[in-house]
Parts: sequence; structure tokens; C-alpha cells
Amino acid sequence: MTMKTELLKGDITKIKVDAVVNAANSSLLGGGGVDGAIHRAGGPEILEECKAIRNRQGKCDTGKAVVTKAGNLPAKYVIHTVGPVWDNDEEKCSKLLADCYRNSLQLAENLKIKSIAFPNISTGVYRFPKELAAKIAIDEVRKFEPDSIEKVIFVCFDDENNMIYKKLLE
Ligand code: ADP
Repeated sequence: MTMKTELLKGDITKIKVDAVVNAANSSLLGGGGVDGAIHRAGGPEILEECKAIRNRQGKCDTGKAVVTKAGNLPAKYVIHTVGPVWDNDEEKCSKLLADCYRNSLQLAENLKIKSIAFPNISTGVYRFPKELAAKIAIDEVRKFEPDSIEKVIFVCFDDENNMIYKKLLE
């Protein structure tokens, strides 16, 4: 099986896919950026489920992923993954960002879903260099051996990421 990759510019909360990935923080209790947008558009159900997960397992470690339903979003699930905060340790941060993509894809496989949309994890408030983040994201998706996933959508909200992905996916 091979997965199709697509590039979309815009708001990930508007996309009709089986799962959208959220660039969450380790509290799982919501934040700004794409996290804020997903909770706003998806409604309180998502936060309730995040709280239940927290009560069960505590915080979510960087690089790991958890899944909730998607509330009012057009998606079926939200996969919340915690990206690394860029601290200039390129090797460590790169590995953790790759973990985010791989663990999210693996969770999607466990759910047996066909389509998944990723935001540009860590490239906002967490300051990960955008070009390096895009290379890691694309690399990790290309390396992944899917069973159920047929389509991966990279959703770029800002022009800079959109240009970088366009160039790298050509
Ligand atoms: P992080 O803390 O992981 O850096 P941010 O939410 O600050 O997370 O930024 C991650 C990326 O999400 C940024 O590239 C930002 O442009 C993008 N983003 C912000 N809002 C949305 C949205 N509604 N849909 C898709 N991407 C978004």
C-alpha cells in the first residue's frame, strides 16, 4: 500500500478527513494556535475527553499522541500530539518531532482510518525552524508503511510553510 500525500493551505478545523492532528501541549488542556482553533471549533466534548485521558494517564509526553472524538468538527477523530519546543538541540528536537508524526500515524492505523491531516507541528509558538520541520514531517510520512491509511494531508496555515511544503513535495 502507498499513501497519497496532499498539500492544503488553510484551516485544519474545516477539513473533512477521518482524523485531524492537533499540535497540543503536554497538559492536553488546550492552548493557542491550532490547538485553540480545534477546541473552539470542535466544542467542549473534546476538552472533556482530554481531561479524562489526563486523569487516567497524567500529562502527555513530548512526541507521544492520544486520540479523542472530534466533537463538532467534520473529522471523526482528533489525534493530539505534543511537539517539542525548539531549544537549539537539533538532534533531540528532530527526533521528538519525527516521533510526533510516526506515533500519530500509528494511532491512525490502530483506528483503521483512511485519511489524516497534519498541521505544521511545533512551527508556531514552539519555534521549530520551518524548513527542517517540513523535511522531518515529509520524511516520516514517506517512511511509514501503511495498512489502512490512504491519504495524508499537510495543512499549511501560513504562507511560509505553504511555500516550503510546495517546494519540498514537488
Ligand atoms: P506549536 O505550539 O506546536 O508551535 P502552534 O499552534 O503555535 O503550535 O503552531 C503550529 C502551526 O499551526 C503553525 O504553523 C501555525 O501557523 C499553524 N496553525 C495555526 N492555526 C491553524 C489552523 N486553524 N489550522 C491549521 N494550522 C494552524
